[in-house]
Amino acid sequence: MNNFEELNLNAELISAITELGFVKPTPIQELVIPVLLDSNRDLVGLAQTGTGKTAAFGLPMIQKTDTSIKQTQGIILSPTRELCIQITKDLKSYSKNYKNLRVTAVYGGSSIETQISELQKGTHIVVGTPGRTLDLIKRKKLNISKINTVVLDEADEMLSMGFKEDLNSILETTPESKQTLLFSATMPAEISRISAKFMKNPLEISAGDKNVTAVNVKHIYYEVQARDRYEALKRIADVNPKIYGIIFCRTRRETKEIADKLIQDGYNADALHGDLSQAQRDSVMGKFRSKHLQLLVATDVAARGLDVDDLTHIINYNLPDENDVYIHRSGRTGRAGKSGISLSILHMREKHKLRAVEKMIGRKFDKLLVPSGKEICEKQLFKLVENVEKVEIDESQIAPFLDVIYKKLEWLNREDLIKKFVSVEFNRFLSYYKGAKDLNQVCDPREERKPRQPKERRDRSERQTEFGFSRLFINLGSSTNLNPSSLIGLINQYTRERNIDIGRIEIMKNFSFFEVDSSFEKIILKAFKDASFNDIPIVAELANPKQSIQNTKTPSNFTRKENFKRKENFSKRKKIGKKRRD
Ligand code: ADP
Ligand code: MG
Repeated sequence: MNNFEELNLNAELISAITELGFVKPTPIQELVIPVLLDSNRDLVGLAQTGTGKTAAFGLPMIQKTDTSIKQTQGIILSPTRELCIQITKDLKSYSKNYKNLRVTAVYGGSSIETQISELQKGTHIVVGTPGRTLDLIKRKKLNISKINTVVLDEADEMLSMGFKEDLNSILETTPESKQTLLFSATMPAEISRISAKFMKNPLEISAGDKNVTAVNVKHIYYEVQARDRYEALKRIADVNPKIYGIIFCRTRRETKEIADKLIQDGYNADALHGDLSQAQRDSVMGKFRSKHLQLLVATDVAARGLDVDDLTHIINYNLPDENDVYIHRSGRTGRAGKSGISLSILHMREKHKLRAVEKMIGRKFDKLLVPSGKEICEKQLFKLVENVEKVEIDESQIAPFLDVIYKKLEWLNREDLIKKFVSVEFNRFLSYYKGAKDLNQVCDPREERKPRQPKERRDRSERQTEFGFSRLFINLGSSTNLNPSSLIGLINQYTRERNIDIGRIEIMKNFSFFEVDSSFEKIILKAFKDASFNDIPIVAELANPKQSIQNTKTPSNFTRKENFKRKENFSKRKKIGKKRRD
């Protein structure tokens, strides 16, 4: 297939997308568009990030809309406000030749009144976040009882953000006869469950291996000591003076910290995370898109699905807890056939995670050495020289000063003059990197020979709860299908809070630990009181990180038998625990 005409798209659509530079359909578009134009069958579309899923569902949706009826005919649900705005913008540009077709975005953090008045003008396609959409339905301002199509975009992310209940309630108000489309880059078990629940005999279409990242993305890693992570990040930025990328961190707290440090250290960086007001988020995204910011430090949720052109690098400040998150992250670069680099800063204990990611994406990571001070200085020097070569001279503005300047520098010959000009900027790097140490982690053979403690025990004894965070125990683990995203989903679902800062999560076989912002500790424990997960009543309590592992039995060094007993005696023990804490 080499053009859009063969997919039976209308001339109006084709001329609009041609203007956008779409020459031929991407694989997922080629597979999905004809099915959607032709039938009303439910469909699950899986394709890696950046492969044009928006047009795959958007173009048929537009073509099938009857603009002579003033009625909402389709709704697209997506996890974040930024994505809603992006999808709306995409749909508007695809439908620019359909004069009467209206697309309306509804999302939280923005005036609901304005959105209501937009809806009241009549709209054909609504793009919404689950929370705001449900709110508008409840207020009877949005009626989707007669729609033909529902799209769940980035469905896995909506679930892990705890929108399951909202989705349930929204879908209940839609007609039986509608067509349901679900799009995602990955297919976790949760998605299979949701498709079984909400969809009728869906056709599953996947373009390419759903667990494979774009072939034009290079995956590399640096291995450093945990304490040198930030220093390594700076060197990576310094050795790539033209870097334009996203740095992914695991928590909002880390995101803020890293962005603040980078700004302080003079980098052109800013943070994007859920604690910012909408106006702040818009301003950060605006600066980043227009390339006034080189580095965007972001959480996964904030940056999910965002389509920013021409990113050179994705930086994994640490590897994500879940492997498929890596695919989403690296999918931010190498979009629409361009090349990109996804790099990860690791410390030795993360090596096993790396192997797991390699296995999943079917690609090997290349190890690079963290650049030395000398290499960075060299690179910066050449960038400076290139800038000098390329700089445009504003003759008229500079002319009045030149005579005096020439006079003042008269005594310098050409070589000295060049050296001096270049050094003005270069000295900063030279002095910073003077005597800079080698950050590459060298494996100490004695370490290798040390007898290894059982894994869980070793991890626990090495870990300390972050300042301001509380460490909680929960009686669910991998054996009960808990994973980091379902844990976050549970917290969101039962607390009905979406702004809880969550730190390290350790999922073990029969139980898990997680760190949360201490100010939410009580709220979470209370919310989990009568809660359950897959019909298992949840038991959560404060883990006591201060007690030494040698002296006290913590849940991780209970034997299996003890663990069982422990569950039985839970209420009794809880009282004892309380006393002990007092
Ligand atoms: P996904 O939802 O799969 O992550 P998007 O729909 O956001 O991907 O598309 C990624 C980028 O590719 C966008 O910038 C989009 O404009 C561009 N794109 C989509 N389809 C095509 C096409 N057929 N030809 C060229 N570019 C395309
Ligand atoms: Mg998308």
